[in-house]
Amino acid sequence: MNCFKRNKIHSISYKDINIIECNNCNKCYRFDNIQEIILCNNCDKYYCCGILGECIGKKCKYLINDIYISGRYCMNCAVLNENGECVCKDCLN
Ligand SMILES: [Zn+2]
Ligand SMILES: [Zn+2]
Ligand SMILES: [Zn+2]
Repeated sequence: MNCFKRNKIHSISYKDINIIECNNCNKCYRFDNIQEIILCNNCDKYYCCGILGECIGKKCKYLINDIYISGRYCMNCAVLNENGECVCKDCLN
C-alpha cells in the first residue's frame, strides 16, 4: 500500500513537468505532443491558438537548414498591418 502510494505521487510529479498549457485557452498538452503548440518568439509562452502569424519583418527571418523560418507571434506581441500581414512589435519600429 505504502509502495503504491509513493509510485502514484512520483508519476504525478513526473507528469506535471511534461505538461504545457496554452496561454490563450489554458488547454493542457503533453510535452511530447509539442508539434501542436507554437512558442511565441517574443514572450516565450506556448499557444495552441491565439497566434497571430509569422512576422513578415526581415529581423524575424532565420536560416535553419537552408530554409528560411519566420518567427511566430501571439496576438499580444504582434499586430496586423494594413495588408493583413503579421508584424511583431520589434519590426514595427
Ligand atoms: Zn507573445
Ligand atoms: Zn489554445
Ligand atoms: Zn518581427
